[in-house]
Amino acid sequence: MADLRLPTDTIVRPDKDRFLNEENPFEAMMSRLDRAAKLLDLEPGIYKVLRSAEKEITVSIPVMMDNGEVEVFTGIRVLHNTSRGPAKGGIRFDMNVTLDEVKALAAWMTWKCAVVNIPFGGAKGGVICDPLKMSVGELERVTRRYTSGIIQTLGPDSDVPAPDVNTNERVMAWLMDTYSMHVGHTVNAVTTGKPVEMGGSLGRREATGRGVMITTVQALEYLKMNVTGATVAVQGFGNVGSIGAQLLQQAGCTVVAVSDRTGGWYNPKGIDVDDAIAYVKKHKTLDGYGHGEAVTNAQLLELDVDVLVPAALENVITTKNARNIRAKVICEGANGPTTAVAEEILDEKGIFVIPDILANAGGVTVSYFEWVQNRGGYYWTEQVVNDRLRDIMVNSFRDVLKLSTQHRVNMRTAAYMVAISRVATVHRLRGIYA
Ligand code: NAD
Repeated sequence: MADLRLPTDTIVRPDKDRFLNEENPFEAMMSRLDRAAKLLDLEPGIYKVLRSAEKEITVSIPVMMDNGEVEVFTGIRVLHNTSRGPAKGGIRFDMNVTLDEVKALAAWMTWKCAVVNIPFGGAKGGVICDPLKMSVGELERVTRRYTSGIIQTLGPDSDVPAPDVNTNERVMAWLMDTYSMHVGHTVNAVTTGKPVEMGGSLGRREATGRGVMITTVQALEYLKMNVTGATVAVQGFGNVGSIGAQLLQQAGCTVVAVSDRTGGWYNPKGIDVDDAIAYVKKHKTLDGYGHGEAVTNAQLLELDVDVLVPAALENVITTKNARNIRAKVICEGANGPTTAVAEEILDEKGIFVIPDILANAGGVTVSYFEWVQNRGGYYWTEQVVNDRLRDIMVNSFRDVLKLSTQHRVNMRTAAYMVAISRVATVHRLRGIYA
């Protein structure tokens, strides 16, 4: 394998003073924007535009609970940038939702859509609530009241939500129905991630894992490493991790370790991913799976493998463990698994990182296909969806790799440069409305 360590003078070091809290998502996103903007020599006016969100809406959501009492929740929707098209981004229901975090995630969506060159801007939303403590009826009432609270921003041409943490296709069905009732006719394209029966796309469930597989294979081929027999460790065995692992195994890799919130399993001879998926279907988690040696999530990250796929949580690769990572390639299935300071250490070690905004963009890409199919009223076969997804992921990987080699920067900085220059170009063409 080629020596991928960057010349030390080209590693752009984050301003340490700004990283008192290396895990703050807003700081992490801004530091990456700043570094790419600097390398692109972005004009100050456009830089200022990209640093701010276009619209921030906070609504109170009074809901009649099952016990007859009224509870008031807070809902947020942030549109970061819509210069390239309607805002796109998920809605999460979680007690930890904050405006700062939603703003960071909305900007993240702007870059993710731009890096795969789909005609969307970025948004994110959230409701501060604990869905695990709520009945289905309460969840439905929260969803409908939140939808009506933010209705002035929603619409197929303006703002198109999707599921995120603790929301799913059922929540999207309620959102779509509420919007449709307000406007007086059925509008499928107001949201993506819907059930297939009401306009969801075939292949959406597998899309993020498929993108992880496609970009990993691209990276291995670029690095002249054999795909067949490449060893892979996957943290997180949910939608992204389990399907990513399954498709990597089908591509010829040997998945040697998998984990979920209950811990992990390591087998140097390979884990049968289909069997592990069947186990989780039956038992809900990997707890007790037993086909290999038990490892903790921390140990899994440090295994001597060719590819590491963090596909669970943010901030799992930090200054505390980055020096111990032995993988040659990291494919970021999760959003934000690597902190900005840890990234500097990975660069020094010559680890090839496929950044989240590229690696896990398969999901939003097929969401775009869903929106296109809804608007056209014509539905594609799963094969067509998968083929078009492959084209977009391969082209995006190549666009980012080209800039990375041209500017001798890592893949994350290159991905931000690709994304930011696409958004900036549109701002330049559109000019400033006065
Ligand atoms: P999921 O809920 O389906 O699965 C999450 C998995 O992570 C589960 O196996 C869970 O047990 C595991 N997990 C939870 N806590 C853990 C811990 N402390 N240590 C190890 N594992 C733990 O979620 P998902 O949809 O697969 O999403 C995973 C990540 O990918 C998130 O960061 C998400 O934002 C990101 N992502 C998802 C999509 C998508 O289409 N689903 C798209 C882009 C990004």
